[in-house]
Amino acid sequence: MSEPRLCEVCRRRPARHRCRLCGRVVCSEDYDEARGVCRFCAETLCQVCSERLAVASCEVCGRLVCDECGVQLTPVIWLCPSCAARFRGEWPPRSLVLSEARELASRLSRVLR
Ligand SMILES: [Zn+2]
Ligand SMILES: [Zn+2]
Ligand SMILES: [Zn+2]
Ligand SMILES: [Zn+2]
Repeated sequence: MSEPRLCEVCRRRPARHRCRLCGRVVCSEDYDEARGVCRFCAETLCQVCSERLAVASCEVCGRLVCDECGVQLTPVIWLCPSCAARFRGEWPPRSLVLSEARELASRLSRVLR
């Protein structure tokens, strides 16, 4: 039981860091030093705060957002904070079909008060 632990991502190099989000132990190459997370979590990290794992991507720009940074409009439609702010003046976004856009608009007006 005393052998060094292997990285849980590559399973080849010795583990030197613990991911603060998922708790995996990983080698230096599979660790994002700046953000303190493993390679897997770095790919799914919220692109707004870099603190929490993303739960969705922005409907407009595709940026990954966590449940605190994102603005949830419907169970499946999210916006990032900057897109939500942009659409204050220009609504509805052209990429959405009209029925969805109407629904979004009414929700967004409540969210963005
Ligand atoms: Zn590794
Ligand atoms: Zn991780
Ligand atoms: Zn976030
Ligand atoms: Zn966005």
